[in-house]
Amino acid sequence: MIKLIDQLYSDNDLNEKELLYLLNNLDQESRNYLMKKAHETRMAHYGDAVYMRGLIELSNYCKRNCVYCGIRTTNNKAERYRLSLDQILQCCEIGYNLGYRTFVLQGGEDDYFSDDKIVNMIKSIKDKYADCAITLSLGEKSYESYKKYYDAGADRYLLRHETASKKLYKSLHPGMRLENRIQCLSDLKSIGYQVGSGFLVGLPNQRNEDYVKDLLFLKDLNPHMVGIGPFIPHEHTPLKDADKGTVEMTTTLIGIVRLLLPKVLLPATTALGSIDPLGREKGIQFGANVVMPNLSPTNVREKYALYDGKICTGDEAAECRQCIEGRINRAGFSINMSRGDHKDWSEV
Ligand code: SAH
Repeated sequence: MIKLIDQLYSDNDLNEKELLYLLNNLDQESRNYLMKKAHETRMAHYGDAVYMRGLIELSNYCKRNCVYCGIRTTNNKAERYRLSLDQILQCCEIGYNLGYRTFVLQGGEDDYFSDDKIVNMIKSIKDKYADCAITLSLGEKSYESYKKYYDAGADRYLLRHETASKKLYKSLHPGMRLENRIQCLSDLKSIGYQVGSGFLVGLPNQRNEDYVKDLLFLKDLNPHMVGIGPFIPHEHTPLKDADKGTVEMTTTLIGIVRLLLPKVLLPATTALGSIDPLGREKGIQFGANVVMPNLSPTNVREKYALYDGKICTGDEAAECRQCIEGRINRAGFSINMSRGDHKDWSEV
């Protein structure tokens, strides 16, 4: 097992059989070794820096019906909201004054936010905060729409592939196609975005064979960012009684991704922090180097409930900033408030 991890560390690659063998046979000792190697790799490329991004949750209206997600369209118990441009700019102002230089604008697929509105929003933010990066996470759009946002000044786009298993994808995303999601990722890349993909861990019926597909898919896509988080059930979804993903499996996969894609930007996700009080710290120890504290107005935080037990719903932006900084420092890392672009990224 140690030999296989060494091979992954030095080649940044393993084939399908080897990855499956690794996942099937990882014990405590080899998991510790994986952590050590993932840590060495992050230190070599990014040092002990953990990049901070301010997350703004624009809207919880969504036309999609992803079976695991609390804001799916058929959840009529969800109390819907959307932020106005003024509210969004206020979040940016608060975030900017706290030192954030990346804003992540995330939301359900809400057609109220037309391309014109999104373009206007991007331009308004860039007008005021030209030194900030804008990351969008607004789901599947056409090439033309992605291009308009990019031309308006958006820098990055997050679109998890969710799961690279065709069968699982189909069962969890009614009316959606994995091929389409992959097409979106390829469009985003060709337009010039820094692109983030990623997947859920611990979905019902998800097996090691499925994670191997996720890992091979990511190796092939070679994105700039990879978001990996545990699935957590939401009480008003069909998966309400399902088991959640584990910290162990999530951090193992974070560690493997750090070795497969040494320079990737890898968040310790809020979902990971929601299933374990030290979840994000554990992710960081396995090579994660990004966190996304919440900048949304506190009165909408609980409404943007993708899963149950989301952390930090009551804290003001400044408290979140302080809390996460303390956590990162105590874990032996340092926060970095810069734009935090991918290491190989340079703007032309
Ligand atoms: N509409 C955007 C943003 C989706 S929300 C998009 O399609 O990309 C951001 C992420 O939350 C999703 O990509 C999904 O992986 C995650 N998520 C949704 N429901 C979840 C749940 N129940 N548990 C854990 N993560 C969840």
